[in-house]
Amino acid sequence: MPALACCVDAAAVAPPGYAAFIAGDSSLPSAVPFSASTADAADSNSTHWSPAHSSALYRIDGWGAPYFSVNNAGNITVRPYGTDTLAHQEIDLLKIVKKVSDPKSVGGLGLQLPLIVRVPDVLKNRLESLQSAFESAIQAQGYESHYRGVYPVKCNQDRFVVQDIVKFGAPFRFGLEAGSKPELLLAMSCLCKGNPEALLVCNGFKDAEYIFLALLARKLALNTVIVLEEEEEVDLVIEISKKLSVRPVIGVRAKLRTKHSGHFGSTSGEKGKFGLTTIQILRVVKKLQDSGMLDCLQLLHFHIGSQIPSTALLQAGVVEAAQIYSELARLGADMKVIDIGGGLGIDYDGSKSGNSDLSVSYGLQEYASAVVNAVRFVCDRKSIKHPIICSESGRAIVSHHSILIFEAMSATAPTTPAVNQVDLPFILEGLSEDARVDCWNLSQAAMRHETETCFVYADQLKQRCVEQFKEGTLGIEQLAAVDGLCDLVSKVVDASEPARTYHVNLSIFTSIPDFWSIGQIFPIVPIHRLDERPEVRGILSDLTCDSDGKIDKFIGGETSLPLHGLEGNGGGSSGGANGRYYLGMFLGGAYQESLGGVHNLFGGPSVVSVSQSDGPYSFAVTRAAPGPSCGDVLRVMQHEPELMFETLKHRAEEFCGQDHGNEGTHAALVSTIARSFHNMPYLVVASPCSLTAMNNNGFYYCNEEDYNAAVDSGASEDEQWSYCYA
Ligand SMILES: *Cc1c(COP(=O)(O)O)cnc(C)c1O
Repeated sequence: MPALACCVDAAAVAPPGYAAFIAGDSSLPSAVPFSASTADAADSNSTHWSPAHSSALYRIDGWGAPYFSVNNAGNITVRPYGTDTLAHQEIDLLKIVKKVSDPKSVGGLGLQLPLIVRVPDVLKNRLESLQSAFESAIQAQGYESHYRGVYPVKCNQDRFVVQDIVKFGAPFRFGLEAGSKPELLLAMSCLCKGNPEALLVCNGFKDAEYIFLALLARKLALNTVIVLEEEEEVDLVIEISKKLSVRPVIGVRAKLRTKHSGHFGSTSGEKGKFGLTTIQILRVVKKLQDSGMLDCLQLLHFHIGSQIPSTALLQAGVVEAAQIYSELARLGADMKVIDIGGGLGIDYDGSKSGNSDLSVSYGLQEYASAVVNAVRFVCDRKSIKHPIICSESGRAIVSHHSILIFEAMSATAPTTPAVNQVDLPFILEGLSEDARVDCWNLSQAAMRHETETCFVYADQLKQRCVEQFKEGTLGIEQLAAVDGLCDLVSKVVDASEPARTYHVNLSIFTSIPDFWSIGQIFPIVPIHRLDERPEVRGILSDLTCDSDGKIDKFIGGETSLPLHGLEGNGGGSSGGANGRYYLGMFLGGAYQESLGGVHNLFGGPSVVSVSQSDGPYSFAVTRAAPGPSCGDVLRVMQHEPELMFETLKHRAEEFCGQDHGNEGTHAALVSTIARSFHNMPYLVVASPCSLTAMNNNGFYYCNEEDYNAAVDSGASEDEQWSYCYA
C-alpha cells in the first residue's frame, strides 16, 4: 500500500498536518495542529560546533586579524594592541555591551543601543603600523628623506577620534588634512596640540574665506599647505597672502592620467572632479613666477581614489606624479613634499584580492614599499633630491577602531503555514471543480516526492483560489487555509528554508549609509553565541519605514547571513546576554558616521570609548555619550522640542485635565511625553520604567516614583561619564 508507506515515511520528518494531507485521509480529525519539531533534531548537533568553526564561517581571521577574534566562550574579542596583544588583554565585546546597557541601578551606564564602541588603542596601532611600514621601506631602500602622513578628517571628524590621532601621531609629526572650512577650523584647533612640524593640508574647493583661514593658520605657526584644486584659487592665494603679508606654502593637485577604474576611482583620470590639468599646472607656475612666489610652490598632490585595488596601479600613479614633481622642481619651484593622497585599502571580506572594491591585494608594508620604490626610482633618474613622502590615508587608519553594535529584536517565524492547521475537508468544500483537481494532483505529486510538480500544482491551486476569492465565491478563511496548505507543502517538499528576516534596532540610513548608497559591504557577525552552530539564515531589516532599509548582501557574495535562532537565546551558552541577540558591524570607522542622515528621524548611536585595563574585567569605559534624543533629531529639522512639549502639555490639560480624581494620570501623561523627547528614537525592549508601568484608563504610563527615581539617578543629566571603570 504505497500511500501508507509514504505516509509513514513523510510523518517521520513532516508535520502531522502534512501526513494527513498526502494520505488523503479526510476521516482524520478535521483540524490537525501543526507543530514544528524539526529544530530539536538540529539542536543535538550544536555540540559539534566550536568557536573556531564560527571564526572560519564568518571569515573573522580574514578581515579581522589582528584586531578581532573569537574567545572560548564564543564571544568576539577585541585585541587592542594587534599582534602584540596578550591573551589576558583581549576585550570581550559582550561584556562591554552589558556594562554599557545595564541600568545604572546595577552598575551599568544605562545607555541605549545601537552603540558604537571605539577602541583608541586600535586607532593608535593602525597609525603606528602605517608609520613603521613607511619607515622600514625607507630604511630598506636607502631612501633619503622621511614619511610624514596626514589624516583626512572627512573620514571621521569625531572630536575624540581627531584629537587621539593628533596625540598618537605627535611623536612622528603626523598631521591632518581638511577639505572644507569647518574641517579646517577643527584641524587648526586640534593641531595646536600637535607636533609643530605636522602638516596641515588644505584640500577641497576654496573661497576667499577658506584661503584667509589657511593663511591665518600659517601665522599661527601651523605648518599649513594650501593645495590648489582649481586654477582660480591661485589668484586668491596671491592676493590674500599679499594683503596679510604671509608667505604661503602652496601645493598643486594634479589630475593624473593614471586611472583607477573601481567604484572609488571616478575622481581619477583627466576628467576627474578635482585637480589641475598639465596645461593649468603650467599656467599656475607662470602666475607664481610673475608674482615672485614660485618658491612658495612646495608640494605636489594627487589622489586617485579610495580602495586602490593593487600596488601596480598605485605605482603607476606615483611614478606619474613623481615625474610631475621632478618637472616642477626643474621649472624652479622649491619642491619638498610629494603627497600621494589616500586610497590605501581595507580588506572588507578577507579575500586579499584586488578584484572588487571589497578587498585589496596588498598589506600596509607592500603599499609603503611600492610608494617609496616608485618615488625613489623617478627622482634618482632625474637627480632630484628625495622628497618628504606624505599620504592621506583615512579609511586605513580609522576603519578598524570602531564597532557598531545593534540588537536583533525579532525575526520572521520559520516558514510555517499561514494558518496553523490544515483542515482538508474545509478547504475542499468551497473549491471549484478545477481547484479540487489541482488539490488532488498536488497530493499525488507530494506522495511521489516530485518537487517541481508540487510547486506547479500548488501555484495553480493558489491562483484559482485567488480568482475565486476576487469573484466572491471563496471566503477569507478558506483562502487562508489554501495558502497554509501550499506553504506546508513547499516546506516539506523543499527542505531548504528561505532566509528569515531579522528586525534590527537600527537605521541603515544613519549608521551604514554606504550600504544603501553605494552597495558597500561590511562584515557583520553576531558578537556572541559563536560556540553554537548558527541554524538559520537571515537578512537584516531595519526600523525605518523604507524598503531600502535592509541588508541582504554580505561578504563572500552571500545574500543571507548565518544566524542563531532568537528563540534559543538565553540558554546556558549565550552567557550574560539575557536572551538578547547582538550583532556587530565591523570596519565601519570611516565615512559611515558623517555620511549618515536622519531618515525617519533616527539619530546616531550611543558612543563609548574603551581601553584595555588590567583590572578584573580587562577593560575600562573611558568615555560615554548617549546618541541624539528624539528632541535632538527634531531640532535638526527645525522643530522646537520645548514648544512642541508645551503644545502637547496644554492639549493634555484641555482634554485630560478635567478628568477629576485622576490627577496622577494627567501628571504621568505629561511626564511620559517629556520623557519621550528626552529618549533616543530607537526601540526600548525593557527599560526599568516600562517594566513597572501600569495600564490605567487606556494610558500607558510610568509609576511616577519610578520615573522620578530614574531622573534622580541621572537619566536626564548631561550624559557624559568619565573614567567609569568596569
Ligand atoms: C577622501 C580623500 C582621502 C582619503 O581617502 P581614503 O581612501 O579614505 O584613504 C584622501 N585625500 C583626499 C583628497 C580625499 O578626497
